This record gives sequence, C-alpha cells and structure tokens, in this order.
Amino acid sequence: MSKTFKQIMEEARSEVKELSPAEVNELLQKDGNHLLLDVREREEYRDGHLEGALSLPRGFLEIKVEAAVPDKSAPIIAYCAGGVRSLLAAKAMKDMGYQNVISMSGGYTAWKTSGYNWVQDRQFTQEQATRYSRHFLLPEVGEEGQAKLLDAKVLLVGARGLSSPATYYLAAAGVGTLGIVDNDVVDLSNLQRQILHANDRVGMPKTESAKKTINALNPDVRVVTYQEKLTSQNIMRIIKDYDIVVDGCDNFPTRYLVNDACFMAKKPNVHGSIFQFEGQATVFYPGKGPCYRCLYPEPPPPDMAPSCQEAGVLGVLPGLIGVIQALETIKLIIGKGDPLIGRLLCFNTLGMEITNLKLKADPACPLCGEKPTIHNLIDYEEFCGLRAAHAAPEATGSRESNSSSLRSGLQPLNA
Ligand SMILES: [Zn+2]
Repeated sequence: MSKTFKQIMEEARSEVKELSPAEVNELLQKDGNHLLLDVREREEYRDGHLEGALSLPRGFLEIKVEAAVPDKSAPIIAYCAGGVRSLLAAKAMKDMGYQNVISMSGGYTAWKTSGYNWVQDRQFTQEQATRYSRHFLLPEVGEEGQAKLLDAKVLLVGARGLSSPATYYLAAAGVGTLGIVDNDVVDLSNLQRQILHANDRVGMPKTESAKKTINALNPDVRVVTYQEKLTSQNIMRIIKDYDIVVDGCDNFPTRYLVNDACFMAKKPNVHGSIFQFEGQATVFYPGKGPCYRCLYPEPPPPDMAPSCQEAGVLGVLPGLIGVIQALETIKLIIGKGDPLIGRLLCFNTLGMEITNLKLKADPACPLCGEKPTIHNLIDYEEFCGLRAAHAAPEATGSRESNSSSLRSGLQPLNA
C-alpha cells in the first residue's frame, strides 16, 4: 500500500532525532565534531548558510553522500530551509546505514531568525558562472577556488616570452589582479613568441599592449601596469601589493633582484628560464624550500650568458615554460596539488625529455642560509658584472641562462 506524505513524515519523525536551532547551536558550541550538512539547492546555499556546512542538495544526496562522508558513524546535523527536506534526507541516510544523523527543525530560516551566525559565499554574476563553469565542475577548484583566484594578486616580471603565456592563462583563469612590470616596447622580432602582443602594436609599450590583450580576454581582471625597469629602488614598493611573483625576466641581474626581494618580502617566486631549446621551472617559496641563490650562488660571467638576441630561442619554448609557471601559480592560489617547491622541472624540447630534479636549501646560502650575509638589496648589475660592459641598447638586459652553466650548476643537486 502506498503511503501518504503525512505517513512518510510521521515515519521519519519516529526514526530521526530532531533538534531546534537553539539546541543545535548549543551542541556546536560544546562539541566541534558534528558535520553540518546543507541539503538545500545550490542557489539557496549560495545566498547564506551555516559556517563550514557541506552542500549536498537533496536531489543528489543518495548518489553523492557516501563519497563525501565515507564514515557512517560520523555525527551529522542535516538542515534545509524549513526542516522537511532535511528530515527526509536524514531518514534516507539512516536507511543507508548512517547511524548518527540529526535533523534541525525549522531549518535555516529558523536558525537565521534566531540570530545565530551564518555566512555567505562569494556571489558570482551570471557571466562569471558561465565563464568559470569548467572550474566550478572541478572539486579541487569549485566556487571556493574561483573566489580565491578572483581575490588573488599576481605580479608578472616582464611582458615577454615567459610572462606572455603565463599572463594570458592567469587572466583566462580569472586571477583578479595582474601587475605587469616592463619598460620595453613591442618589436617585430618579439612576435615569434611573445603572444600578448600583436603586429599592429609594434612600437607600443609592452605593458600597454599586454593590458589591451587581457582586457579583451577577461573584463574580471584588473591590470596594473608598471612601465619601468625593476630595480633595487622600486621592487619592494611594487611587490608589497602582491601575493605571488611570477619571474619571467630574461636577465641575471633581475633574476637575483627578484629572488632577494621575494625572500625579504616573504613572497613566493614562481621561476622560469629558457635557453634555445631547453627550459626549466620551479617555485622558490621563502621558508619552505631553496632560493635561487641556493642553486646559483654566483652569476655566470657575462660572456658565458648569451641572450636570446645572441643565441636564439625556439618560439614555442617560452610558451611551455610560461604555462607551467601559470599552472604553479594557480596551484599556490587555490592551495591544491604539489607545487614545484624544492623541485626543478627541466624541459628539453628536442629530445622531449622532462626531468624533475630535487633541490635542497643550502645552509651556506648567503641569503636564506643559517648565517646570511645579504640583508639588503644590492647593485645587481654590478654583481653580475654588467655595470661597465653593457649600457644601452641592452639596458633592459636580455640574457638567458646558459645551458651548460645550468647543467654544471645542477650537478651537485642531482647527486
Ligand atoms: Zn638560498
């Protein structure tokens, strides 16, 4: 014989324990072990919910609950808007073997009118919900991760080969604030790899061209441009407003400068470098792994470090490494995955070999070691031996890591 709704409710009430919002509040105060389960629709949850509540809409409950809450003895408090859906949900869960499910009578409405604490998730516009829908589908990102991306502030050093794809993908992913430091203008020879720029922008400052490209891709992104050369004088002022620095520079003085400043300001530095057909990427995270000086205490002699201009570079290579930098940056922002801290990813495009080298912090590192000798930013042009030899026209520097020097530098670490 089929049951009426009234009979179903009576049956559920006889089997499921119900607590009022006041009783739930008291229980939560004295015992933090209870899992709050919100069985309302996503839209209702988004408008406001109990802090820390897991959202599992009633319609998907039976399908998803075992994956979300594998422990069937876990103490659970289910709630909905008025107490009916959660009572039926608790009954269904009891039938599935959950031994300790309570339903909150009166639901979220009664909870809220009683004046108890509730929180609201970030509100996405319809356009954002569509734009980031593929992120929302990933449990590792979801709405929470997307909110973190939109709140994140990332500084890109350079608007060149590496930072072009890094910036482009970070903008597409919805990183809310992107700062770009570059003092160069677009040259026709850049367009073989610097995909932020375009043919009709030759002669335009790279920061301006980058801003145009990003604005056209994603209006959610606020672009802050710094059309200046990064120096010991301005770097601390610039990086203080950012959570993460992506180093896409192409010369040693800037690389050491960014490393030292990031260490001093305690900012993660997502590093990439390229030479001809080889590239590498890592994350220098102050306090969590080595810094650039742990790997390379001394810069190579200037004549051992030919620039892209002198040695050439495969157009796709900065794309590969820059995208890895974007990926690592996103992982740091959403706090998921295993970032390249203490690991150097080496990419050889001709042999298509990818290796991961373990890196250790050097206790003798002059910057991050046990007895540091570097406490302030220095003159990096002089440190790299470029002060006299290279003034204009390469004042912005365009020196790539020398492949053989990279290898020799890595040998001890690889052992
Ligand atoms: Zn170090």
